[in-house]
Amino acid sequence: MLLTDDIKTLKGIADKTAEAFYSAGLFNLNDLLHYFPRRYESLGEIRPMAGINADGYVTLSGSVSGQPSMVYRNSKSMLQFTFADGSGSGRVTVFNMPWLKKSLFPGREIIMRVFAKRKGMQLFLSQPRFMSRDEYENGLRSLKPVYPLTKKLNDAPLRKAIEQALPVAEDIKEYLPEDVIAERGLMSIPEAIRKMHKPADMEEVYAARRRLAFDEFFLFLAKMEFLKEGEEKTPSSYRCDNAEDSFRRLSESLPFELTGAQKGAIADVFRDMNSGYCMNRLLQGDVGSGKTIVAFSAALAVCDAGHQAALMAPTEVLAKQHYDDALRMSSEYGLSLKPVLLSGSLKASEKKAAKKGIENGDYNFLIGTHALIQDDVIAKDLALMITDEQHRFGVRQRMSLAAKGNAPHVLVMSATPIPRTLGLILYGDLDVSVINELPANRLPIKNAVMGEDEHNKIYQFILKRISEGRQAYIICPMVEEGGLEDVSNVTEYSAELKKIFPPRIRIDMLHGKMKPAEKNEIMERFSKGESDILVSTTVVEVGVNVPNATVMVVENAERFGLSQLHQLRGRVGRGGYQSYCIFVAGGEGENLSKKTKERLNVLKETNDGFKIAEEDLKQRGPGDFFGLRQSGLPYFKIADIYTDALLLKETKQSLERIMAADVENMQKLRTALRDREEMTYSDFHGICL
Ligand code: ADP
Ligand code: MG
Repeated sequence: MLLTDDIKTLKGIADKTAEAFYSAGLFNLNDLLHYFPRRYESLGEIRPMAGINADGYVTLSGSVSGQPSMVYRNSKSMLQFTFADGSGSGRVTVFNMPWLKKSLFPGREIIMRVFAKRKGMQLFLSQPRFMSRDEYENGLRSLKPVYPLTKKLNDAPLRKAIEQALPVAEDIKEYLPEDVIAERGLMSIPEAIRKMHKPADMEEVYAARRRLAFDEFFLFLAKMEFLKEGEEKTPSSYRCDNAEDSFRRLSESLPFELTGAQKGAIADVFRDMNSGYCMNRLLQGDVGSGKTIVAFSAALAVCDAGHQAALMAPTEVLAKQHYDDALRMSSEYGLSLKPVLLSGSLKASEKKAAKKGIENGDYNFLIGTHALIQDDVIAKDLALMITDEQHRFGVRQRMSLAAKGNAPHVLVMSATPIPRTLGLILYGDLDVSVINELPANRLPIKNAVMGEDEHNKIYQFILKRISEGRQAYIICPMVEEGGLEDVSNVTEYSAELKKIFPPRIRIDMLHGKMKPAEKNEIMERFSKGESDILVSTTVVEVGVNVPNATVMVVENAERFGLSQLHQLRGRVGRGGYQSYCIFVAGGEGENLSKKTKERLNVLKETNDGFKIAEEDLKQRGPGDFFGLRQSGLPYFKIADIYTDALLLKETKQSLERIMAADVENMQKLRTALRDREEMTYSDFHGICL
């Protein structure tokens, strides 16, 4: 067997199963080896249902009572039955496993691992994993990896496939010099991979993970170094000599005065664009600090000079929002911007027309999603490439954007608060402008940390704000990021809310499994004020702008990283109204809820994203990284720049030492890296190096 062998060479994977693997991005054995568990589970003792008060996974033993029922909704099945263990009973819900109905007859004894949630006297159990007494007893003694699954990719075949592929891990070559390995105390790559899939205990997982995180950082940093070498100061033929005039006309039309920081950033951009060299600038500013207008000013300068500018956003919702803004401003203020929207959900004919207009120069402001960087999009005269919320894109995409046209200027915008020291490492190849002040009309957001038992108060509060004409977001509890449960959570929760709120309150919902067009429609309704409450998963996290929304409620706030919570909070407080953010903490016993409160209080005390990021870094120990990812910075699949900040620094030092050593070493490293990179991280889950 070879690392590059197709997964079909494994036993038990025929065409249909293979499709499921392919759709999850798993093509060959190497992909499988690098498909790591989301978390690890130790079964834990069987618990009596009566004693379960907090949400979480538990192991239960009891029997089915009464006939199971089944409903179908949008081609999805939902099986429900009552389960009792003598101490209490609860309602179990199983999604998409209709075949189980037959075996779940009344009286059937069951042991299961299940997610339990208590609402008042009721216990709700979802997505159980059934097991035999033997399986349970074996499970008690070992650590079971839990893999991310998809609708098509199921647990059992995945486990079997990984098990078979494990021996090939030995073929992965080492590329680090021995002294680095020794100095940093790293295990070998094959060993790390084995231990990720089959650890004896969590200590082994941490050690394995450390090696792989080092790997990711190292590849990333080395790649940056190599990029920098070739990239130094590319001359640019694009100038915008009348940028100041363009800007004056725009700023005179705006209904507000730009902040000093915004003006400073715009000045940086203009200076870069007229320097004779390509701009390569990162614009960093907290959520709501007004980065968009900086982007528009740059685009306007370019368009006034007769060239084209492009703005790429990570989601359709955001692209559409930018497009609408550009269109409105252009006509209201009489600007030279001729915007066009290019995104995945356009009809084929619309796309064709858009591309044609881009190619022959009918449009000068190209706005869109990834669709913008497809090979068949040819710009006539692209002088400026802007990416919004840039951390959602990998460096590779940044490069391929820059490669369009004739070396355009590049501006990337990010709201992710990165402590300065980390920023220097991660964005070493970019000049940086920071917007460190919020528009003057902003009232600071008022924050509260509340308990599960205070929901009535919260709903009353929302109702009051809505009757004043405002709107609210409610972020739903999430079980597992991207899991199916999220969808059902949002669906169920918004149904529940519809019963709680009076019928005149219009409640919409949004989740990641919706089609882009549907998401757009819902966001548009909300932003036009045609719905009052938007119940959502974290998909609203990035960049959405609805100034009239003034309440943000985050359920199960303890499950999120602080920086992510801060991003969510940034959806409100974007207009002149007083805004509120309510973090609802589901307590797990007295102790934890106290710790949780302390953590969330950081958010109460400051609205400064940079401070929050730094505090987060301090508070989180190495044990925290499973389940509670900071998200927001998915350059890395395993590593997390917050929890692994120290490792990142160490990696940087090691790399510097290797580079300083000698040229020959460097050449060897370059070759080895290319192998490893192509094998592993290059196109995986949006991690682009
Ligand atoms: P972000 O930095 O998060 O991308 P936006 O550019 O979306 O922020 O700006 C948020 C809101 O603030 C928008 O409605 C925008 O029109 C408004 N805004 C931007 N700059 C100012 C300013 N100087 N004064 C008042 N409002 C502003
Ligand atoms: Mg933005």
